[in-house]
Amino acid sequence: MLLTVLSSGSKGNASLLRIGEGGVLVDAGLGPQVMRDRWAHLNLGHRALEHVLVTHGHLDHSRSAGALARRQDATVHCAPAMITHRALARAPRYSELRAGKEQELKCREGVVHVRSALLPHDCDPTLGFRLEHEGRRVVILTDLGKPDAAVAQHLSDPHVLLLEFNYDEEMLHAGPYPDALKQRVSGDRGHLSNHQAQKQLALMVGPSLHTLVLGHLSLKNNTPELAVAAATEELERLGREDVRVIVAQQDRALDGIEV
Ligand SMILES: [Zn+2]
Ligand SMILES: [Zn+2]
Repeated sequence: MLLTVLSSGSKGNASLLRIGEGGVLVDAGLGPQVMRDRWAHLNLGHRALEHVLVTHGHLDHSRSAGALARRQDATVHCAPAMITHRALARAPRYSELRAGKEQELKCREGVVHVRSALLPHDCDPTLGFRLEHEGRRVVILTDLGKPDAAVAQHLSDPHVLLLEFNYDEEMLHAGPYPDALKQRVSGDRGHLSNHQAQKQLALMVGPSLHTLVLGHLSLKNNTPELAVAAATEELERLGREDVRVIVAQQDRALDGIEV
């Protein structure tokens, strides 16, 4: 199972889990042309995509989900309240994800077990996911306003964790955003600061973790260096210097990560 983070950040999020010749996409927040361009580099067969999971309705996560699902004849999975979202209107099929439950996605190459957790974020409902195939687990956790122990418990023990490191507190405070937006981002239903991400990381580091991907970095209120420093400091504090740290990019796909 290979995780390819196609894009991460406020201009668009998409992560592909490749299982054999098939694929499961988490979020499709890029515009159709950019999505097609990144897709073209993957050397996937036509209609390789089987499922599209959508975390929430903000367009940086949902923008192309319906159109892509139609083109690839894939099923869109989302919270029940999201099925009427306009970004999903063109999907050929829908399936409901239930927070707190474990559900099965049938794929050509077997079954993917999905756990969904409800996240504190200002777009209700917002979900985080754990996807498991043949005992290997990926957790994708972005767009949450504060550390959450119940979320960590439900999405436990990933091999690869994509976690939001959205902003540096000092940069946000001193930065160009209007006060209302600063308050939204830093509020309990906004995004995780580097410091809050450290706390969530401490709740989530389990024995299986080998790779931490830092995601959804703000281009204005964070730097890759600050995010990596925060992650590395926390992993050292936890005695887990063995965990590899990678920064997800907004403008290009990462190399595939073997889960
Ligand atoms: Zn977002
Ligand atoms: Zn959001």
